[in-house]
Amino acid sequence: MSKVAVIGGGLSGLAVAFWVAEAGLEVSVLEATSGFGGSARTARLEAVSLELGEESFDDTPNTLLNLSTQLGLDPQPLPGHQRVVRKSGQDWVLPQGLNLFSGFGLHQLAEMPFRRHVKWRLRTERFAASASVNDELLGAFFLRRLGPEIWEVLEPYLSAMLGGPAEEVSASTAFSRLLQLERQGGLLAGSRQLSTDGRLHLITGMGGLIEALSTRLLQKARLLPYHEAWAVTRDSRGWQVHVRGGKIEAEAIIMALPAPQAARVFRPSAPQMTTLLNHFSHQHSAKVYQLYRHRELASGPGEYFFARGEGYACTSLRVAHPGEEMALARVQFAGEIARSTDSELSRLAQLDVSKRMHTRVRPLAAWVFRQPSSRPHFTQGQSRRVADLERELVHAPGLFLTGSYLAGPGLANLVEHSHRISQSALDFLALATI
Ligand SMILES: Cc1cc2nc3c(=O)[nH]c(=O)nc-3n(C[C@H](O)[C@H](O)[C@H](O)COP(=O)(O)OP(=O)(O)OC[C@H]3O[C@@H](n4cnc5c(N)ncnc54)[C@H](O)[C@@H]3O)c2cc1C
Repeated sequence: MSKVAVIGGGLSGLAVAFWVAEAGLEVSVLEATSGFGGSARTARLEAVSLELGEESFDDTPNTLLNLSTQLGLDPQPLPGHQRVVRKSGQDWVLPQGLNLFSGFGLHQLAEMPFRRHVKWRLRTERFAASASVNDELLGAFFLRRLGPEIWEVLEPYLSAMLGGPAEEVSASTAFSRLLQLERQGGLLAGSRQLSTDGRLHLITGMGGLIEALSTRLLQKARLLPYHEAWAVTRDSRGWQVHVRGGKIEAEAIIMALPAPQAARVFRPSAPQMTTLLNHFSHQHSAKVYQLYRHRELASGPGEYFFARGEGYACTSLRVAHPGEEMALARVQFAGEIARSTDSELSRLAQLDVSKRMHTRVRPLAAWVFRQPSSRPHFTQGQSRRVADLERELVHAPGLFLTGSYLAGPGLANLVEHSHRISQSALDFLALATI
């Protein structure tokens, strides 16, 4: 019997297994597919690297930064590039390095070509009224602090970052650091104190981190690809994870899956967990990468975010130049449209690139990565959902859950949560053996 079985071999599952193995306990990682990494993977195609999930992470909380360093990787500040919001037929260039999770660059909004009364409002932001409700929506938060003109420009950028409509997101769940700045004397004043945008990336891509984690785990843990868990049960001896052709026994289970996938595993034995997990909303996402001749996409590097009503199907388009001859477009889709067929997504991406470049362009090659229900959507009521889940877990000693839907947005939060869960599992096992 393993001490711990981790279900899911994405970044959270591998990270959790890493800390359990470092503590000297026997751990098995069950992964449904042939490869590890989940959404955090990097596809390498000759000269170009394609990131399937998130491309960078914050330096706060610093657990992911420290883990990367411990594994011999060298996270670097994310190189700056121009970011432009297309809204009301106009291009709005965002402040360099603007990071709405940390608040970096917010004070530079005053340098954007807003009208005089908007700039005045920014200058007096520290006097804005306090929230009148506990779990305020992100739109209401920005309207209250910065006013409608700024919210309208930030909204397409935030929606693309969050993978779903920003106006439906809970400010306290997804932007707790901004709320902290608000309490400490205002967003703009707080923003002036920040010396870096705090965004990091790995030269190897996120795939480098997965490779380093897997390599380290191969020496200390059992990595089991093609092991899809379809149910978990418990008896007096411990937990069983049911997989095709048998079961894996363990004293503790850590479920490191997005909520919709975890909900499926609980359905046969714990339908009440399935119901609670289904309350965590997730959005579909898709990324289309298209390779063009350099001269066709000469502008850039840059990233564009499109407001609804501007005639774009995608939420964002990024142009990079991985070589002198080549240009790479990364086109992101969110919501129902992300479930379209590969050929339809490619066609829509080509149309959007052509529209943005004001000329008809033709890609030399295209790759489509569709990820259904992959992005947690942090709507209001998050603390109630988490509390309901925690109450249910009291009846399942030795069962632990981690994932972005519990951690909040971004990989730094995810890995920090996975670290906390690994410590809870270690504490449980230490107590269980006394
Ligand atoms: C394009 C894209 C951009 C994203 N951007 C953001 C962002 O900006 N902010 C954010 O918070 N999140 C974002 N996400 C969500 C992102 O998925 C998470 O932040 C993070 O990568 C999740 O890691 P994970 O290990 O928890 O889950 P995953 O990466 O989904 O890994 C889960 C693993 O479990 C495996 N698995 C599934 N079911 C089973 C089973 N029954 N048995 C065994 N194994 C199973 C899967 O094959 C997978 O390998 C993004 C996702 C995508 C696709």
